[in-house]
Amino acid sequence: MYSYHIHSTFSDGKNTPEEIVLAAIDAGIVSIGFSDHGFTSYDLRYCMKDQPGYIKEITEIKEKYKSQIQIYIGVEEDAFAPLDRRNFDYIIGSCHYIVKEGKYFPIDSSYDHFKKCLSLFDGDSISFAEAYYSSFCGYICQRKPDIIGHFDLITKFDELGESLFLQNPKYAEIAEKYVLKATESKCIFEVNTGAIARGLRTSPYPYENLLYILRKNNSPITLSSDSHGIDTLAFGFEETKKQLKDIGFDRITALVDNSFKEVYI
Ligand SMILES: [Zn+2]
Ligand SMILES: [Zn+2]
Repeated sequence: MYSYHIHSTFSDGKNTPEEIVLAAIDAGIVSIGFSDHGFTSYDLRYCMKDQPGYIKEITEIKEKYKSQIQIYIGVEEDAFAPLDRRNFDYIIGSCHYIVKEGKYFPIDSSYDHFKKCLSLFDGDSISFAEAYYSSFCGYICQRKPDIIGHFDLITKFDELGESLFLQNPKYAEIAEKYVLKATESKCIFEVNTGAIARGLRTSPYPYENLLYILRKNNSPITLSSDSHGIDTLAFGFEETKKQLKDIGFDRITALVDNSFKEVYI
């Protein structure tokens, strides 16, 4: 088992890096990466305030537990706040905001924030989707993060109220157009079970239509839990592996001996 999208107390996670490593060893995970939220000057609620401390602490536990588990120093970079990637083993590139007239509106931090974003488009979910994907894909193609974080994050609350996206053919058209564009970057797409663990969704990001497109285009994928606590480090991985196999995937990408390699699932 492998897991590279994990938050610790250095951003908005509940456990320290060492607690996470000990739980990961217990759970049989052989390679793990931390991906706390990189610093975002426009939203200080979730991001890392002490990047040097983060790197120092993980470097120390990496050495301490090296005979039991491989540990990597990653970061979840927001699309609007690029970091110096030389400080990290890998970056996950995610888009958590819609920017309008110089202001940053969080998409996913609560259902109310999501509805606020929708209101910026006069309630038109399709214009919202177009704006979200066009800015995110611009970032992906230019920045080429190692891993693309929760590609269709705007669907996070879709199963809570009226379905604005997943049941809407116009949405499918937009999401499919942009996922194809993003595959040109050759970045690894994460299949992220985080919203299932939070009881918001019944399937991982990206939704199944997009997973079929990724398979057809031979896009590399990895499995991630977007975990914020030691109880969810590999949440839903067994069910998701089964879903991926049914779609036709037989491999995922993992960090093995300091580089991304394909491993069988
Ligand atoms: Zn995220
Ligand atoms: Zn995350």
